[in-house]
Amino acid sequence: MKCKHCSANFRGEVREVIGKKEDYFRVLTDMGKNGVGEIYFSGGEPLLLDSLFDVIKFGKENNIIMTTGTNGAILDEEKVKRLKEAGVDKVFVSLDSYEEEKHDFLRNGKVFKKAVKGIEYLKEYGIYTRVDSVIWKGNYEDLDNFVNFCQKLGVDEITFAWTMKVGRAIENDEVLPPKSAYFKVGEKLKELKRKYNLPKISFHRFEYLNKEECRDCPGGRKIFYISSAGKISPCFWINTLLPDFFTEKNIFEEKISNLFQDKKIKKFVEMEKKRYKYFGSGCPTMCLMENNKFNSKDPLLINS
Ligand code: SF4
Repeated sequence: MKCKHCSANFRGEVREVIGKKEDYFRVLTDMGKNGVGEIYFSGGEPLLLDSLFDVIKFGKENNIIMTTGTNGAILDEEKVKRLKEAGVDKVFVSLDSYEEEKHDFLRNGKVFKKAVKGIEYLKEYGIYTRVDSVIWKGNYEDLDNFVNFCQKLGVDEITFAWTMKVGRAIENDEVLPPKSAYFKVGEKLKELKRKYNLPKISFHRFEYLNKEECRDCPGGRKIFYISSAGKISPCFWINTLLPDFFTEKNIFEEKISNLFQDKKIKKFVEMEKKRYKYFGSGCPTMCLMENNKFNSKDPLLINS
């Protein structure tokens, strides 16, 4: 698929996923021993990887919470059954509108019906289901109806994320929500969170709404991103703008404990500590993207 807002700088080439199933098992054992609590598989499309189900099962046997995302395009009953048998903890399905036409427009393909059917299967098999939705031009004024739709589907959680101008969204900037609507949307999300017990409402890039929570960047300390080539960076988002922060070695060549302490990761953490000291909490990716410099104040927090 070629989603119009996709953050990956993907232009249609197939990126090779390296490593055999046995290599993954070895790495998962190492991760389990080194305190990795949760693994989330994101896209491309994780369900295209046939070894995913065995990897999830093995991760669970090593006491790791195993979660996968999917765009829902191939989420049929057989895949849902295999996810259940593997013991997956949560499945995150992308859904960006309750209107078929709008969702398919953003996703650049006829996937709405398949994603909705996939969600129904997930609920039928008793799997925790989160809908991941970007806030974009086609839905930012109509979030009530969307939440209602998801409630009827029985989803457990919805996570909203403000669409960022990275990857394919640079050339398709007509899908971006107007920046002037950011704080109004934030207020709406707060209202929805108060109103609904289920689905649980959560959000990304609205850190100012989580006043009680830590607003420091967790990249390179609490979360890490592993690329399809097995290299580690502090966060997926920062990697789209600063690819230099990838480790030189990959998870198949080096122990995970060493990679977490790699000089590139440490450099990022030091840079962020300095940024935080002068400019306060916020997301360094947002600073880079909107202010063109890492050392600056997160523009989305300025009015908070
Ligand atoms: S760079 Fe931004 S998105 Fe990435 S971990 Fe830090 S705060 Fe989160």
